[in-house]
Amino acid sequence: MSIPNEAKKYRALLLDLDGTLLGLDLEKFIPAYIEALAEKFDGFLNREEFARCLFEATNIMVRNRDPHKNNEKVFYEEFCRLTKQSREQIKPIVDNFYRDVFPGLSTWGKVLPHAREVIDAAREKNVILVLATNPIFPAEAIFERLTWSGIDPENFSLVTTMENMHFCKPNPEYYLEISRLIKCPPPDCLMAGNDTVEDLSAAETGMDTFLVEDYILDRSQGKPAYTYRGSLKELALFVETLAAGE
Ligand SMILES: [Mg+2]
Repeated sequence: MSIPNEAKKYRALLLDLDGTLLGLDLEKFIPAYIEALAEKFDGFLNREEFARCLFEATNIMVRNRDPHKNNEKVFYEEFCRLTKQSREQIKPIVDNFYRDVFPGLSTWGKVLPHAREVIDAAREKNVILVLATNPIFPAEAIFERLTWSGIDPENFSLVTTMENMHFCKPNPEYYLEISRLIKCPPPDCLMAGNDTVEDLSAAETGMDTFLVEDYILDRSQGKPAYTYRGSLKELALFVETLAAGE
């Protein structure tokens, strides 16, 4: 990893969760998650049909460009349309799933000791911390996964969820919305994550990026464009070199 001689001062550090602060193999976790959720819809939809509707509604949410509809609204409009169910029928099933079943999936998550070092170093430098996880899940599911990482949610000025965001990764509008919410222009932000597409697209807004390699998801045909790259431990060391904020 290359560390510049003159450490730049970033006012905000945006951190991805899955595969970055939390050890989680999404390619294995997602099927287990979908199976557990599909089980809750037994009687409404067969499991294949459920998975198809979930993927389709999620894709429409990810591609949404309407700034007036939050991700939650886009998702449920589509999911209800596809499944021919009302929101009133679906909501209690989903709420029950996240309350009673989702915490049981914690065995998929792994605490990464260097994640705490990144957070502590950023706090030491008075850097604004944002949990910039793709806001395709409800807050409950994101805060639950955050507990699997062993990191206190209180450290973050903003945690992006399907309820508080209007765009998803890799749409650059997602990063611009964060920038507006925390009142910090993109050049003063550093986005760190493990996904060469979803996380590095922050660069399109003028943010610098740090590609975290421990659980790297390289979907850019081997030519990811990043400002820095290194392990999570190296990210912690890098944050320690940053100039302290006011
Ligand atoms: Mg990730």
